[in-house]
Amino acid sequence: MLKKLQQKGMFSGFKRTPQRLSILEHLDGNTSHPSADEIYRVVARKNPSMSFATVYNTLNTLVQTGAVRELTIDPDRKRYDPDTSAHHHLICLECKKVADIPGDIPLEIPRGVAKDFVILGNHIEFYGLCATCKKLKRKK
Ligand code: ZN
Ligand code: MN
Repeated sequence: MLKKLQQKGMFSGFKRTPQRLSILEHLDGNTSHPSADEIYRVVARKNPSMSFATVYNTLNTLVQTGAVRELTIDPDRKRYDPDTSAHHHLICLECKKVADIPGDIPLEIPRGVAKDFVILGNHIEFYGLCATCKKLKRKK
């Protein structure tokens, strides 16, 4: 993600403060789909001058520039994904773990349903129980 930002020249107009850089470093290659709160808790440990507002604003900027994807799969909090390639997600309804479903899922909309829309993309959300939560449920 950091490399992509550099290649795309996305850093122009993006002030590289130490706070922002530590947010970027934390997100780079991160596959846990963290929330703003989770990101804040981790980066504030290394960077005591970090504020939640900085995390929140930086995330918004990154989403706007297309460097980070915002996920709404978790109804409780927005989740962030530095992997902006086409892929889908599944969420565990118990522990709210979000996992990747890599690649494309062939999907066609019945003729006439899309009306005059041009389809530019899609995102499929699967929900269920992860292996750990499934085991715990069985024990109850
Ligand atoms: Zn789970
Ligand atoms: Mn993902």
